[in-house]
Amino acid sequence: MKELTNIKYWIFDLDNTLYSGQTKVFSEVDKKMSAYISKKLNVDLIKAKKIQKKYFYDTGTTLSGLMKYNNINPHEFLEFVHDIDISWLPKDLLLREELIKIKEKKYIFTNGSHSHVKNITNQLGIEDLFDGAFAITDADFIPKPSIEPYKKIIKKFNLDPEKSILIEDIAHNLKQAKFLGMKTVWLENNEHFASKDKDKPYIDYKIKNLPSFLQKINILKAA
Ligand SMILES: [Mg+2]
Repeated sequence: MKELTNIKYWIFDLDNTLYSGQTKVFSEVDKKMSAYISKKLNVDLIKAKKIQKKYFYDTGTTLSGLMKYNNINPHEFLEFVHDIDISWLPKDLLLREELIKIKEKKYIFTNGSHSHVKNITNQLGIEDLFDGAFAITDADFIPKPSIEPYKKIIKKFNLDPEKSILIEDIAHNLKQAKFLGMKTVWLENNEHFASKDKDKPYIDYKIKNLPSFLQKINILKAA
């Protein structure tokens, strides 16, 4: 883990990474997606959920399937599905403390929207600690795990991939990061889709808890 003390660019996924998947924040977004599809395609919620999941598995995000097959307006979709009440989500003071100690550049890399980044980071109390965010709108709606958004975030923030690290809960989203030269960290979870590629060689580190992991690095750096 000593090699991680030389990282210059810290890249964090947003959902189920900066907050724990056990919070069920993302299931709020998930429900809004089903409601949107139900309304827009005029199908019941059960059918909507099926379409939602099929698009997600086939095209990387529900949104890309809806754009491809149903010609929906991506901005309208993003605004609707990310309009969630997460006022119950507590601040993460430990995460804040460890992020502050990381003096290198820090970025958020998400298949969601910028307003979702703002909503989540404000609620966690970490909104002032990042040097930038790369959202699905910056990626021309081409999501991770396609290689394009990884190339685009490198370009947008002028990152050196050899000095970068990506932390993610979806194991296969680490593949292209590793291919481009980044260090990769998988946040362990039991969700079938997120964990099915957990034993792939493109994963450098597996961690159970983000603040504790950052704390370990910060202690190593201070030594
Ligand atoms: Mg995630």
